[in-house]
Amino acid sequence: MKFKKTLIKWYQDLIHVIFPDLCLSCNREPKTADAWFCIACIHQMPYTDHFELKDNEVLKHFKGRIKLAHGAAILRFKEGSIVQNILHQLKYKQRKEIGEVFGKIAAEKLNNSQLFPHPDIIIPVPIHKNKLKKRGYNQSSIFGKSLGDHCNIEFQETILIKNKETESQTGKSRTDRVSNVRDGFTMVYPEKIKLKNVLIVDDVITTGATLEAVCQMVWLAQPASVSVLSIAAAQNS
Ligand SMILES: [Zn+2]
Repeated sequence: MKFKKTLIKWYQDLIHVIFPDLCLSCNREPKTADAWFCIACIHQMPYTDHFELKDNEVLKHFKGRIKLAHGAAILRFKEGSIVQNILHQLKYKQRKEIGEVFGKIAAEKLNNSQLFPHPDIIIPVPIHKNKLKKRGYNQSSIFGKSLGDHCNIEFQETILIKNKETESQTGKSRTDRVSNVRDGFTMVYPEKIKLKNVLIVDDVITTGATLEAVCQMVWLAQPASVSVLSIAAAQNS
């Protein structure tokens, strides 16, 4: 099964080398001029209603864990879905344009949402500098910067730093996971977010442990509010 999956991935990567203009999702139709997907796939994406819903899955997921003004994911994430494929391309295949496209989509949704406080500053969930060196970019930064550019909101990726590799999370309880992750972050310029409406952005919310730790760090700097926004969230989040 794993071998089959690997073969499919190889095949998909090969397709994009030979036909770089095909949609990243279906591999059949030509992509639109300003996106990595065909029109049909853009319309079929599993969009959430989080931007307009007070009691949405993201907020429910973090209820009692962190204080959030609002939280949303653009898409629903499922193992083996097109959304997983898209996020994989963004994170591991140098397809930064995917983050830019979703930054643009998020900007539109954020501007129309009545529930998000207008952010003063956008901060991405950081990755460790070794990972950054290896990958060349932080996928959450690509998304957050594009969102900031389209909404004219300040984007800051140097305020929060990941200062060590996180140990394996497997087999740990949720509380252990959170404290383990929280210890790995440093806030460099807390005064820059004091009394500001802060928006934390990430590529995908699965357990939420990383976002929870990041938000707890951010709250220490006494912001006016904290909200979270991701490209996708697992359905149980
Ligand atoms: Zn398509």
